[in-house]
Amino acid sequence: MNLANLLVRAGRCFGKHSAVAAGPRVVVDYETLAARVAALAGALRSRYGLQPGDRVALAMKNCPAYLEVLFGAWHAGLVAVPVNAKLSAPEVQYILDNSGARMCFVTSHLAEAVRPLVQGVATLEQVIAVEDAAYGELFGGEPVGVRERAPADPAWLFYTSGTTGKPKGATLTHRNLAAMISGYFSDVDPLQPGEGILHAAPMSHGSGLYALPYVAVGGLHIIPDSGGFDPDEIFDLLAVHERVSFFAAPTMVRRLTAAALRSKPDVHNLKTVTYGGGPMYVEDLREAMEVFGNRFVQIYGQGESPMTITAMSKLAHAQSDSPDYQHRLASVGRPQTLVEVSVMDADNAPLPPGEVGEVCVRGDIVMPGYWNNPEASAEALADGWLHTGDMGCFDEQGFLYLKDRSKDVIISGGTNVYPREVEEVLLAHHAVAEVAVLGDADPEWGEVVVAFVVPAGDTPVAATDLDDHCVQHIARFKRPRRYYFVDDLPKNAYGKVLKRSLRERLQAESAVLV
Ligand code: AMP
Repeated sequence: MNLANLLVRAGRCFGKHSAVAAGPRVVVDYETLAARVAALAGALRSRYGLQPGDRVALAMKNCPAYLEVLFGAWHAGLVAVPVNAKLSAPEVQYILDNSGARMCFVTSHLAEAVRPLVQGVATLEQVIAVEDAAYGELFGGEPVGVRERAPADPAWLFYTSGTTGKPKGATLTHRNLAAMISGYFSDVDPLQPGEGILHAAPMSHGSGLYALPYVAVGGLHIIPDSGGFDPDEIFDLLAVHERVSFFAAPTMVRRLTAAALRSKPDVHNLKTVTYGGGPMYVEDLREAMEVFGNRFVQIYGQGESPMTITAMSKLAHAQSDSPDYQHRLASVGRPQTLVEVSVMDADNAPLPPGEVGEVCVRGDIVMPGYWNNPEASAEALADGWLHTGDMGCFDEQGFLYLKDRSKDVIISGGTNVYPREVEEVLLAHHAVAEVAVLGDADPEWGEVVVAFVVPAGDTPVAATDLDDHCVQHIARFKRPRRYYFVDDLPKNAYGKVLKRSLRERLQAESAVLV
């Protein structure tokens, strides 16, 4: 079983279907793409002597060559290591070192930073920029057949976003990703041949993982010319391509909504926006649905169980007459069909609905472990379950509500406060654009709740207004005792708020009490 066969099959079954578009222009069909990938695999094996199981890194922005390199590596029996293109050179170096990559493909913006690493990373032999002539030369040789792989063989080393420490390489096998593809069809969005996926989110992460079901059906991969997320560019591409879907982080959905309110684009070609990867605040979701209609699906997953733990279907988004509707919009949906999800207490015993514990996952989707890190693997996979580190609870209908990562829960006066709940309330205030709530050490209470707030617009909002607002909506003990007004929140390369940096800031400075 080798995922490379998805593309071989697409080449045979959907040969003349458009495979990749650079912005508005189709650049390759499936027959040609499959042939190019077979030739690239031949070059990787014969010219560079790469052996099955060797690692090839992709430090690349989204670009038309992305799928070629990914599938070329698999076709040759290699393990792909997609690296976020926004990482700094030392972060890329860490991943190349940790994965033992022998080769690294880059887009030119990273070429200068990565080329010298051939000296700094013991295993690294070659760095090739996909814009260079050297890349084109890789397609001149003989195509080869797919190198057979076992389902348990690694396919993709997925480096976690490192919000809590050094990134770890979740080892995703061919079987894991096959399970993710089934989950996409059964729980996220059934596809017809010819539908399009717009890669506006990083292909090193969710968008690249979701490329796979589209290869399976001979779908079109649309790569924005910017290589990233630009709402106006997306609206332009929706005017050209039909039946288009994409994956977006919640912050992207928010920016998309704001841009659409300004420019009122025609979105009839937009089929589905799948969002996830971080909390979607109910206020943002409501507004997005008002603007774009019922086109949203939510997924909850993590690198260790890629894109696949729960999903909230379009149907669940649409059932506004259901009595629990408002509440449910704050959930992450129900367990995906082929995944076991359990909420467990500290002794790994399952908890009943309504009780908060750690979300644990079991099934073909779960990684076998972290690359070269047996201690972290044993901890994450204790008792045969993936311990996600997320706290949550089920309701009686099987909807899962995430509270927060266990380490983010604030314990104030012995009572748990879940930052997400306080953030939801503050975001509903018209003067708040973004917010991050966390705990700060306090001699009396253990921890007190504090909030970092990015005001909406230019007039700063008064802390007393926000305090009144909180008192109206949540228990008094949950309300922030201090507010810090900031221009923006620190985020990592995936757009996730770095609470760790905010904590460090709290420790470092005695910020002005508002
Ligand atoms: P990563 O492995 O970098 O993709 O991060 C995964 C983490 O992001 C999960 O463990 C959750 O804490 C968070 N996450 C992912 N999807 C969602 C979602 N739909 N809602 C809230 N948090 C999410």
